[in-house]
Order: sequence, then structure tokens, then C-alpha cells
Amino acid sequence: MAYQSLYRRFRPRRFAEIKGQPHVVAALQGAVREGTVGHAYLLHGPRGTGKTTTARVLAKALNCENRGDDGEPCCVCESCVAIEEGRSFDLHELDAASNNRVENMRELLQRVNLGTPGRAKVYLLDEVHMLTSGAENALLKTLEEPPAHVTWVLATTEPHKVVETIRSRCQVFELRLLGGDAMAEHVRWVIAEAGLDIPADRLDEVVDHVVAEGGGSVRDTLSALDRVVAAGGVVDLDTSTDTLLEALVAGDVAGALAGVAAALDRGRDPRTLGADVLAGLRDAFLTAMGAPPARLSERARRRAETLAGAVAPRVLTRAVEVLGSALVDMRQAPDPRIDLEVALVRLCGVADADPGAGGGVDEGALAALVRRVETLEGRLAALAESSPGPGRARGGESHRDRAPSAPPPPAVPSRRPARTTAAPAAPPAPP
Ligand SMILES: [Zn+2]
Repeated sequence: MAYQSLYRRFRPRRFAEIKGQPHVVAALQGAVREGTVGHAYLLHGPRGTGKTTTARVLAKALNCENRGDDGEPCCVCESCVAIEEGRSFDLHELDAASNNRVENMRELLQRVNLGTPGRAKVYLLDEVHMLTSGAENALLKTLEEPPAHVTWVLATTEPHKVVETIRSRCQVFELRLLGGDAMAEHVRWVIAEAGLDIPADRLDEVVDHVVAEGGGSVRDTLSALDRVVAAGGVVDLDTSTDTLLEALVAGDVAGALAGVAAALDRGRDPRTLGADVLAGLRDAFLTAMGAPPARLSERARRRAETLAGAVAPRVLTRAVEVLGSALVDMRQAPDPRIDLEVALVRLCGVADADPGAGGGVDEGALAALVRRVETLEGRLAALAESSPGPGRARGGESHRDRAPSAPPPPAVPSRRPARTTAAPAAPPAPP
């Protein structure tokens, strides 16, 4: 028998098996039970959170021949089995990304109008934000006057790209990433249920690793577990992010550069490596603020706590800023490794330990260093403003950091627009 991925093997078959989405399950299962299922639902959420799985369970529940009083499908009747095997006429799945034209939609809608007596039809339109506007309009018409036997389930990872006219005709549910603890529990259950051969003394390490790899997505987490199983239960633990974070805390420039070199030798991409370090800093910052992210694995949580205890929040904010800017620059950079290295060297200066404190991290000294760097940058910016010319290359932090006394803005680096790589012809007007 061909190997079936753990994700497929342990895909939820009933409402009760859907993990971490109690609000969606309660609403849909309740509607099935009460006979009040709507004509259109919009399920949105990151990949691997169960949008299509939820649509399948709904289709099964609506057509199950022995549906329980609780609204659950039996999973053994002909209708349930046909839907599970993907050969039912009651569930139509269409990927809007590859069928996004108006002709595709018209063809689908012709079928929608043909009902089978006594059957509920579920039309699952995945990645619905990819539809062309012609296809959207065609869909809108049927959402306005839906045939009684039809339920639309629209799924998307990008709800903001779904036009309001469509969204407003749907009951909208957000599916969420699973928290670290819930995911770890699920992974342990899958390992036991599937009888995976993982030595007891390595179990914690494996669970932690796959939870971190999966980032809250059940599908990605179980794919990571598949890879561990394929490697004979051995975790190829990539500690390059830890190494870099430790080097930053210690102000160890050589260690940081060696860490980058080692990670790249392992085949890491400088951009994703930088993004991982940034995520580590952000986790530490949020932990320091008393709001640790829920999706962290045990290892990532411990790391964030250690980092939050060793470095002042102000320094963390600054570090997130510097690295965030570098990541923006790296998108355009011919050799992103250089941008990463420069940013890390700068951060080593920012987070330098006070030698007088016996190698420990002195927050007073760190804050002083931050002030010095910011003052220097302010002077540089002022200098650049007073003598505009072709010398200003990309990556200058001039405008944002001009005022040395201003606290750094909250860091949301991924939303910051990419700065132009060309040197401006004239200095910008003062704010
Ligand atoms: Zn059934």
C-alpha cells in the first residue's frame, strides 16, 4: 500500500475531530442539528487550518443517511464514504486559483442549478480571492438568489481580497492557527495512534521540533512529522537561529558571522534566516511585555524567556527595528547575505555586554549604547540633510531615526514599505 501522509490519515472526519476551531464547529454543527444551515459561508485563515476539511465534514453531515441527533455524520454510510473518497456528486470542490475565469464560473453555475431531490449540494470554492471580477460577478448573482439545495463554502487565506459584496452575503468564520500546547498534544496523539517508532527519550525533542516547524498549521506540523519519520525518527535540529540570538546577546560579532556562515553552509537562505532571528527577537519582546505568543513551541518559549530576561525591552525593540529594515533591504539586494551580516554586526554593538560587569549583560550600559548609536545616527542624518548629493546610498536610516530622544516606534517590519534603492535627488522636506 502506498504511504499515506499523516495529514491525510488523520484528517478530521467529524466535527468533534476538528482541532482548535470551536467557534466554527459550534456554529456549523448547531446549524446542521437545527436545520438552519446557511447558503453561503466564507471560511478564512492561514493555510493548513482546516478550511476544506470543515467544508467536507459539513457536506457529509448534510447528506448523511444516519446522521446523529448531535449533527455528526456517521462516516460509514454510502454518502459519507463517497464524499471521503472524493467521488460524491454532493460535494464539488473547485480551486479558484486555477479556475478563476468567468467561463469556469458560468460552467459551475449551470451545474449548481441542477439539483438532485433530497440531496444538499456543497460547493467548495477554494482561494476565492483569486477570481477575476467577471467570475466574481457571476458568483455574486447566485449568492443573491441561491437555489434552496445549495450551500456555498468559500475559502481563502486572504479575506481582505474578497470583495465586500461577496463577503456581505456570507456568514464569515475565521479559522485560527493552533497554539503550541494544543498542537503538541495533537502531535503526541498522532504519534501514539499511528504507532510511530520514535524512541521515548527523543519524543519531547521530536514533538517540540515539529510544532516549531509547523508554525500552528496542522498540515505543516504533520508534514514535518512525516519528514522526521522518514529520517528514522532523527530530528535534524537546526540551531542556527539560537546561535545567532546567543551571539547577539553576548555582543559576539565573530560568533554571529560564524553563525551566518554555518547556517548558509547548511543550505539556509539568508532571508529566511534573518526572518527567523527577527521572529525570535519579536517573541522575546512580546514575552518581555507580558504577552508571549501562544503558538510557540516549548523550546521557542524557553528561548524567548531567556532572551527577555537578558536584554532590556528597549534594546529588543531597537534590534527588531534594525533587523526588520535589513530584511526589507534584503528583498532587493543582489547579495542579501551582506545586509544580514551588517545588521547583525550593528546589533552586536547595540546589545554589547559591559566588560566591567564580568561578561554579564548590564542594562544600563546597553541603554547607553543604544543612545550613543541613535545620537550618531541622528548626526549622520542631519549631516546628510545639510549636504544632499549622490553619496546617499540605500539603507540609510536617516529620516526615521533623526530625533535621538524619540522612543523607537512599535516594530512591525513586515508592513513597512520597501524603501527605494535609488539615491534621492533632493532631500525630503522636514516633517
Ligand atoms: Zn453517513
